[in-house]
Amino acid sequence: MKVTEYFEKANGRTLTSFEILPPMKGGRMSSIFEMLDPLMEFKPPFIDVTYHREEYIYNQQPSGYYEKIAIRKRPGTVGICAAIMHRYGVDAVPHLICGGFTKEDTENALIDLNFLNIKNVLAIRGDARKFENKFVPEAGGHKYAIDLVKQIQDMNNGKYLDTNIDDGDKTDFCIGIAGYPEKHFESPNMELDLEWTKAKVDAGASYIVTQMFFNNKRYFDFVDKCRAAGINVPIVPGLKPITKRYQLTSIPRNFYTDMHPDLVKSVNAAKNAEQIIDAGVEWCIHQSKELKAAGVPCLHYYTMGDQETIRRIAAAVN
Ligand code: FAD
Repeated sequence: MKVTEYFEKANGRTLTSFEILPPMKGGRMSSIFEMLDPLMEFKPPFIDVTYHREEYIYNQQPSGYYEKIAIRKRPGTVGICAAIMHRYGVDAVPHLICGGFTKEDTENALIDLNFLNIKNVLAIRGDARKFENKFVPEAGGHKYAIDLVKQIQDMNNGKYLDTNIDDGDKTDFCIGIAGYPEKHFESPNMELDLEWTKAKVDAGASYIVTQMFFNNKRYFDFVDKCRAAGINVPIVPGLKPITKRYQLTSIPRNFYTDMHPDLVKSVNAAKNAEQIIDAGVEWCIHQSKELKAAGVPCLHYYTMGDQETIRRIAAAVN
């Protein structure tokens, strides 16, 4: 079923969903099941699986020179989606990115997803590769997420890259996109960021999942601004608990989100690793309950390999 159909069916009830990462190359599928099994009691209607493009690593050669090699450290997104649907009967939402894909690669990936009966896709651009200071699209690939949304929507209308195909199978993907309550870091201002977000919705996106945030006011303000800009699709809040003190600075650096002063205070007051987790969990429960009371369609948790903490939060909120 489509993500948006779950929201409609819930009729105002707040759902719970999760995002997971594929294991590092060489890892086991069983690690994904061990993580998801305890989360199934919260009846997630869908589970997102992230996509990771290749990274460059530098291997030192006997000569002393370094060889630059491109490798994908976390492959397996599509296989994991199929395995999740098979084991749990839950819809999987693969993330599809522009980076590393030509338009034809994208078309072929979408054909695979369609044949697997995957009904949902989160269409995003992807970040710059490690050690590159800006996003560089693949030659013959998409520069912005909106172009990916348009390509998916074309296939939903039976339009393929090969113009000789005049009666192509029409896919029926429900397209999600990313949204940024605290603005995407490359955008000169919030107004322009919202314009581009609206353009993605006008091009065919049916819902938005937000970047993580630690101050609900940022989410509520973002929803108000989206509505004022004419963006009327569901906006799903993305949540992540703080579990380590260093995340108070690493998350703002990597995700461009502010930490609420009260959260910073309670994490800094913690006396040991356990108390830090407790402080982060308490804060995320507080955020979740407030968002649920406000009637958000879904609480979407970024698990980042830590199912125990997420389970504690979901148990307290459901
Ligand atoms: P875009 O919508 O393309 O926007 C990128 C920037 O360009 C923004 O500043 C925007 O304002 C601007 N812009 C947009 N369109 C135009 C245009 N036509 N002309 C000029 N400027 C424009 N990354 C991964 O690699 N894998 C994942 O699985 C993944 N999952 C994510 C899930 C969520 C919920 C979120 C919030 C992010 C995720 N990311 C993931 C990170 C994401 O790829 C980055 O945040 C990326 O930098 C931007 O992606 P986007 O889709 O928002 O890009």
